[in-house]
Amino acid sequence: MAGELILIVEDNEKNRKLVRDVLQFKGYRTLEAESGELGVALARDSRPALILMDIQLPGMSGIEALGHLRADPTTRDIPIVAVTASAMMQDRQRILAAGFDGYQSKPIDVKGFVQVVAEVLANGPRRPA
Ligand code: MN
Repeated sequence: MAGELILIVEDNEKNRKLVRDVLQFKGYRTLEAESGELGVALARDSRPALILMDIQLPGMSGIEALGHLRADPTTRDIPIVAVTASAMMQDRQRILAAGFDGYQSKPIDVKGFVQVVAEVLANGPRRPA
């Protein structure tokens, strides 16, 4: 565990706190944004190793934020995992088709969540498509 920096984009404070607590307990550093707009700006400024992206956000959605991050050379190689309450299979497929690097449903299963985070980080930056 190298203390990688992880950006949490999530408008719900309880969800944000749970994810933050789990990640910090595992030794990661965290940054938080309550909106897609702020998340995109923070990602540009701080170049995290991983972004955890809520889909349903006020204003810009997580899918729109993903589009902005992928369009910017500064952020396009950062892996982005969707974290969303939409647990239905067709939503999962829609989210992965949008270009996310992984998917976690909420409420998170802590053990599975930590595993996905570790796996995505182990893969390193995204290779250009
Ligand atoms: Mn939300």
